[in-house]
Amino acid sequence: MRTSSTVARLRSIAKISRRVLATILVPQCACCRQAHHLPSRLCAVCHASLRSTLCPRSIRLPNDRACNYSRTKDSSTIVGAQHVEGISQLQSIFFYREVVPDLLIRWKYDGMVELTNLIASWVANHCQISASYDLATIVPCHWRRRLTRGFDHMWLLANALAKTGLIKPPTKILKHSKPLPFLHLQAASDRHIDPDHFHTVCSVKGKRILIIDDVITSGTTLRAAASALKCDGAAEVSALTVATARELLLPTSRTRV
Ligand SMILES: [Zn+2]
Repeated sequence: MRTSSTVARLRSIAKISRRVLATILVPQCACCRQAHHLPSRLCAVCHASLRSTLCPRSIRLPNDRACNYSRTKDSSTIVGAQHVEGISQLQSIFFYREVVPDLLIRWKYDGMVELTNLIASWVANHCQISASYDLATIVPCHWRRRLTRGFDHMWLLANALAKTGLIKPPTKILKHSKPLPFLHLQAASDRHIDPDHFHTVCSVKGKRILIIDDVITSGTTLRAAASALKCDGAAEVSALTVATARELLLPTSRTRV
């Protein structure tokens, strides 16, 4: 009797322990922090939200009259492109809304570097940029921010994209010539970076460059990066960004009234 009661007690303890462990170890969604039971880092709701923010093949954004459109292989659809001075072709994967800001904030500011591969897989699966290029590079973190964060999220992403086969292994080309203003605290219309903000650390003469960045808002950062590359003799500059906030610059139906 004593043996069976001991076994029952042990089973009861094991059952409670399993429940406690399941509660502690249940995976949380990287965006909304809700518990979920999918193998993905995102819950079903955030996953669906992310899918709904994908830029369609044909997008109309501010100043798209000057767009350099690129066409897919069947030449029937226009790949979403936006005009930025000095950039010959530009594609963004997501609109910067719904779950996308949370995802990028967790990745960039909360140090969830494990989201790099998830973001890279979405970019690789939906990138349709058709520009030919010789060197792939990034808009780098300023060294002070890299020091405080402990990593350069764009360098991690570019290397993850290279592992998927989407791009060539990235090259470090650009460096900040001066401290970067806190652009994310500024309204899009107030954002400004000096044209000489970046300088190059290797020869780009005659090269076609693909720059990768996280979010394009006003385009001022990419414009300055392209300016530095063109000044040093780059033949062509194209860009790929994870997200675009440019649709937020469009007047809404409410503001039109
Ligand atoms: Zn979620």
